[in-house]
Amino acid sequence: MSKTIMAVGAHTGDAQLTCGMLLAKHAMAGDKIIIVDLTAGEKGTPKGMTPEEFRPQNIAAAAEFAKGLGGKSIVLDTLDGELQYTHDAAIQLANIMRENEVNAVLYHWRNSIHRDHIAAHKITEDAIFYASLPTYPLPHAPARIGGFMCAENWEDAEGFNPYFYYDVTEAFPLWKENIKKLWLAEHSTSFKYLRYYEALAIANGALIGKDYATRFCSSPQCPAPRQVGNLL
Ligand SMILES: [Zn+2]
Repeated sequence: MSKTIMAVGAHTGDAQLTCGMLLAKHAMAGDKIIIVDLTAGEKGTPKGMTPEEFRPQNIAAAAEFAKGLGGKSIVLDTLDGELQYTHDAAIQLANIMRENEVNAVLYHWRNSIHRDHIAAHKITEDAIFYASLPTYPLPHAPARIGGFMCAENWEDAEGFNPYFYYDVTEAFPLWKENIKKLWLAEHSTSFKYLRYYEALAIANGALIGKDYATRFCSSPQCPAPRQVGNLL
């Protein structure tokens, strides 16, 4: 039976870059993919463009990325840089989890150099709780969320100790083809995103004897030896 895998990012680009390879692997295995961007990341603008102009471009690119994986993209309305942890934000995301009958969730680690990422971690963690809790009254039936893990993101490195490794060698070309649809992957001048995440996947792959791997940790962190999984 196919599963539904959700990845949640603070900005368009976060989930696609950090979870996209494993999402591509699940898509190739016949699972449903849903990517929720809590903001459109519109303030990381290309030169000469305003956030107002960049926002629709990012939303369209997120949709194209998800489409390339046969999945769905949802970009919420909160403005980039203004994401706050609130109960309402958690419930909004919990509703999306229930409505889409999500089985596994990938999201941000708790510590970050970016305030939006810290808020995204808390929002997602509470959303998983409310989406799963049978007695919490929401319009849709509780989601059967069996797995949730935090993704390796260069901005969320403090205290992050990844030990769940996934071989994504076969899915890597699908990811690479689609990640280029996001402007920041190859064109950001502040950080070489595609170059970094490709190199990271190669380095992680070497540690488990594969060409490409992606890795995660659980939250709260529990020390464990390196573990290699196939699918979520
Ligand atoms: Zn971000």
